[in-house]
Amino acid sequence: MITNQSVKLQSLVYRDFLRSSLIPLLVIEVLLLALYFGINLYISDKNRTTLVSEVKQSLSEITTNEALRVNQHLEEVTRTARMMQLDHELFFNSKRCFLPNGKPEFDTHPNGAFYKVNPVGASVYYSNTTNIGKQESAKAICSESLDPLLKAIVDTNPSITQAYLNTWDDMNRLYPFMPDAPAQYGPVLEMENFNFYYDADQRHNPSRGNVWTEVYLDPAGQGWMLSNLVPIYSGNFLEGVSGLDVTVESFVESILNHQFPWDSAALVIDEKGTILAMQKKAENLLGLQELKHHTYESNITDTVTKPDQFNLFQLPSLSEEGIRSLSIANATQDIWVNDINYIVDSKLIPETGWRVITFVNTKSFLTPISELKSLSDNLGYLAVLAMIIFYMVFFIYLSWRSKRLALDIATPIEALTEATSKLGKNWNMENLVESRVDEIQRLNQNFHSLFTELTSRTEELIESTINIRIQVKEKELLAKLAQTDSLTGIPNRLKLDKALRENHRKAKNDKHTYGVLLLDIDYFKQVNDHYGHQIGDQVLTEISTLLREHVRDSEIVGRWGGEEFLVVCAGADNDILWDLAERLRESIENHVFPKCISLTTSIGVAAYEHGDDIQNLLSRADKALYKAKGEGRNKVAS
Ligand code: GH3
Ligand code: MG
Ligand code: MG
Repeated sequence: MITNQSVKLQSLVYRDFLRSSLIPLLVIEVLLLALYFGINLYISDKNRTTLVSEVKQSLSEITTNEALRVNQHLEEVTRTARMMQLDHELFFNSKRCFLPNGKPEFDTHPNGAFYKVNPVGASVYYSNTTNIGKQESAKAICSESLDPLLKAIVDTNPSITQAYLNTWDDMNRLYPFMPDAPAQYGPVLEMENFNFYYDADQRHNPSRGNVWTEVYLDPAGQGWMLSNLVPIYSGNFLEGVSGLDVTVESFVESILNHQFPWDSAALVIDEKGTILAMQKKAENLLGLQELKHHTYESNITDTVTKPDQFNLFQLPSLSEEGIRSLSIANATQDIWVNDINYIVDSKLIPETGWRVITFVNTKSFLTPISELKSLSDNLGYLAVLAMIIFYMVFFIYLSWRSKRLALDIATPIEALTEATSKLGKNWNMENLVESRVDEIQRLNQNFHSLFTELTSRTEELIESTINIRIQVKEKELLAKLAQTDSLTGIPNRLKLDKALRENHRKAKNDKHTYGVLLLDIDYFKQVNDHYGHQIGDQVLTEISTLLREHVRDSEIVGRWGGEEFLVVCAGADNDILWDLAERLRESIENHVFPKCISLTTSIGVAAYEHGDDIQNLLSRADKALYKAKGEGRNKVAS
């Protein structure tokens, strides 16, 4: 039964294939790919996090070490300054006067400044605002005893470029020797006005410990410097301030030269954020150019500090967030500069409050991971592409296979269906399709056997039906032949007798009437005699045809014997009989037979009369015929 839900075999097979193989495979593949990308992402993130963490740790260690190293150098300077402080205080308290360089020579410069002339040991300068009396002169001479230590300090510590004593009465003792000091300093030098003095005075430095100055540009061209100051007291009297000048570069040299394993930059800032030193890479990173030279247009006593543009916390290239991150000391953080991500580590140098800051471009160490991830991703995309191609091909193959399978099954079944639908009509077993499917093939064979059996039985049935029909026909023919005259083909005497009996039976039972005409060809013997028996037969046949043409369906004409004919007329009375007899007599008389033979006939008429039997009727007809002959032939008589 075909229902609305019925589907084509191909789509059934295809859907089955699709559901049972393609969809589960596709789902598994998608899951595997998702797993692949997920693991890839997870591993990459994990690697990234681990590496970032390791780099942060390493960076922190490197920065800490550098900060520690600088701090140690600075502490060494501080300790040296303390030693110098002790020595200078001892000098003022003990009033010693030891001349290690021999007797110094002094002179007054044209600008009025008093100064040491012979360039041995430290240089000495007195501002012209100070009257050089006995006491001042003795201080200038006896402070020569400070020179061995000043020399030893400068000569043994490469960071320290100068060691000096500035006194309350504006004397300057400086090692190494400054030639032409009055010209360099000018005529007047009022110590209280300079930071390298007042930074360490009672008001600014009540604890009397070491004081680090701000970074300033060295007038002598040694770059950025700073000084460690110590106050020199005699009791509560501030005799002066001694100091050690150190170059920033000497401290940060190792930082500037440090080779990091990544793309990185290091710099050192002071507590206000001013950049004291930076690597070349840091210059590029921050968009700055280190200020290394300064032309002194004015007196060298002017202090030149770093301009604000070198303040890290005011750099335009840094975001507020970046500045906030950098302002936190001893921390490792992420910041963005010019759209580049950096890990930044900041470590405090306790001695001066400076900080070492190191930047590492995350890209420089994450690139291999990014590349690896990119490679893995590309492999994944390749796998996706391969999968799409595979499934397209697989889908096409599956479609083709399902179509073929469906055709393999459907075609023979359709052929079988087609064959069965034409069963009994115009069908042909040749149209059946061979199948690879065993069941279908067996069905075909069974159907073929069934068909063969059916054909054979049908043929047998037809044959037997035909035989029966033939027999019936033969029987009918025989019956007909039995009642037909073999020469003329018209009913014979048997048939005529039958017709007579029927009419007679009817006439006896109801008002049926009938009659007979008995015909005898006149002088027929002469035809035989003149033309032969064969022509005689022809003439008899022609007479039969002529007679049959002139009688109605209700009238039976038959050969009564020899050249005599009988017409049995149902429903005819005497008049009808006479009328028919006349017409028959005339038709024979007027007919021209073969060989131009003309013939006549004599006819005896007899109508059924009540009480008649067949013999009576025929007898009367025979008598009437005899009468007609007797009257000269070619006559009708009754
Ligand atoms: P009428 O009746 O006028 O007295 O003369 P007739 O010559 O016809 O009469 P008759 O009875 O002497 O002859 C009948 C003839 O019909 C005799 C026979 O040769 C002929 N005849 C009878 N049957 C056949 C037949 O089947 N074939 C042929 N050729 N002739 C036949
Ligand atoms: Mg006769
Ligand atoms: Mg005759």
